[in-house]
Amino acid sequence: MIRMVNEGRVSHAQMLAGPEGIGKLNLALAFAQYLNCSDRQEDDSCGVCSSCTKYEKLVHPDLHFVFPVVKSPKHKNPVSDSYIAEWRQFVREKKYFNLRQWYGKLESDKQGLIYSQESQEIIKKLSLKTFEAEFKVMIIWLPEKMHVSAANKLLKLLEEPPQGTVFLLVSDDPSSVLGTIQSRSQLLKIPRIDGAAISKALVDEYSIDATEAERFAKLASGSFVAAQEIVDQSDERAFFFDRFVNLMRQAYARKLFDLIDWCDEMNSQPKERLKNFLEFSLRLVRENFMMNIQEEELLYLTPEEENFSTRFSPFINDNNVLELSEEFSLAHSHLEQNGNARIILMDLCLKVIILLKQ
Ligand SMILES: [Zn+2]
Repeated sequence: MIRMVNEGRVSHAQMLAGPEGIGKLNLALAFAQYLNCSDRQEDDSCGVCSSCTKYEKLVHPDLHFVFPVVKSPKHKNPVSDSYIAEWRQFVREKKYFNLRQWYGKLESDKQGLIYSQESQEIIKKLSLKTFEAEFKVMIIWLPEKMHVSAANKLLKLLEEPPQGTVFLLVSDDPSSVLGTIQSRSQLLKIPRIDGAAISKALVDEYSIDATEAERFAKLASGSFVAAQEIVDQSDERAFFFDRFVNLMRQAYARKLFDLIDWCDEMNSQPKERLKNFLEFSLRLVRENFMMNIQEEELLYLTPEEENFSTRFSPFINDNNVLELSEEFSLAHSHLEQNGNARIILMDLCLKVIILLKQ
């Protein structure tokens, strides 16, 4: 890509394609910044010129973004600019993210689109002459989410863009991009990130020990978003496991006051997290029963969970496994129906005390 710039053969429509979470958007941004840097270095932009400074804040007047957006009471006919402040903040802070996380940022559980009205915006922006740069760059994140009528209106622009315009299409799934768009852009296949780089980033940024980081990197298979999710889940799983062990120990020992403390602490957690905890517990009850009846090939436990379960599994047996499972499911559905979490949890604790003795 650097060579392309230095040899003056920058294609005006390029599609950076590859799996989710491998940094294609970051690469597109770095490329755009390099294009407009006034003091290009051999292997990167200078990072300090006035163009670079604006690029790093994502506020360069000749840098434009298009991305999927969602309808909301405030934005009934949304275009990318409706959410540009959120977008700039998200890209700068998060750097690596997927579509689901972006919708999460917009606090939407609905699916979004690059809506039809976006094409007007694009045409308007590209018809303005460049403010200060050599190249005007339009980054389209996830062209596969573009409404077909928006895509159709873009075809002419993609074919004959105004002088100095570069389209960078960033796609997780190029095969779902409209064929006419595909055929008008140069395809750049972006490889997955290599495991060593992911593992190093996990060590540097998350203070994870090197062996664990290597294992996570392997599981993430080249996606930094996947690696981050594995880290998040592993923290979450450790938290759930710890609280499950506490619950079972105190219920077995009938330590009512400790159980009340346990309920108070759990009650301070967000409801979604509590529901996840109950799902986790349900799974662990099931795994322990399997262990008890020696169906060991069914086990999906971390080493720590397995260690605990070796001692705990005799207490989960034919006499209580069904009822225990039911109690956890019941607590889950009562939470879903917006019951009082503290009462639901206290009730669960009392049932567990009784059931563990069976
Ligand atoms: Zn620069």
